[in-house]
Amino acid sequence: MKIGLLALQGDYEKHSQILTQLDMQSVLIRYPKQLDDVSGLIIPGGESTTMSKLIDATHFRRPLKAFAQDYPILGTCAGLIMMSYLEQLDSRVKPLNIIAVSVGRNAYGRQQNSFVDQLTVNVDDQQKSITATFIRAPQITTLGPDVEVLARHNTMPVAVRQGHHIGLTFHPELNDVGLFHQLAFGGV
Ligand code: GLN
Repeated sequence: MKIGLLALQGDYEKHSQILTQLDMQSVLIRYPKQLDDVSGLIIPGGESTTMSKLIDATHFRRPLKAFAQDYPILGTCAGLIMMSYLEQLDSRVKPLNIIAVSVGRNAYGRQQNSFVDQLTVNVDDQQKSITATFIRAPQITTLGPDVEVLARHNTMPVAVRQGHHIGLTFHPELNDVGLFHQLAFGGV
C-alpha cells in the first residue's frame, strides 16, 4: 500500500516519517497522474490561499475530487481547509468540498497564538489521549449531518471524519501521532 503526500506546498515531510513508522510507503505527489499509483492521500498543513492557487494552476482540482470518491484523504490544518465544504469567509480559498464542514481560518490568532495541548480522541468506543499542535489553526464552525466528531478542544470540534476521510485542525505529525494516519489508511 502506498500513500501520496500532496507536495505542492506546505509541511509534508514529517508525514512521510509517520507513515514509515506505520510500515506504509509514501510518495510525493506533484502531478495529477501520480494519483493513479496511490490508495490514500494526505493534504498537509501550509497556506490554504497558496494551495488553492496551486491546485488550480496544476490542474489538480478535478483529479482530487475524483480520487476522494474512491480513496481516503487525511487533511491537516490547511489540508482540512482545502477539504472543507461549505461557504468560506475568505474568497481566496477555493475548497474542494470533500468534508461537509465550514471553517474559519486563523481562528486562534497569529503565529504567536499557536499552542500545544492534550486531546482525548474517541475512536470506535475507545478513548485515546494525544498531544496536538495548533499552528495558526482554523476552527470548524459548521458540521454537516454526516460528519462525526473524533475530538474536541474546549467544546470546539478539532478532528472530524466523514466516510473514509479525516480532517484535523492541528498537526499530528509534529508530535509523532500516527493515530489518524492509521485510522484513515489502516484499512486500505
Ligand atoms: N493559517 C493557515 C491557512 O489559513 C493554515 C495553517 C497551517 O496549516 N498550519 O491556510
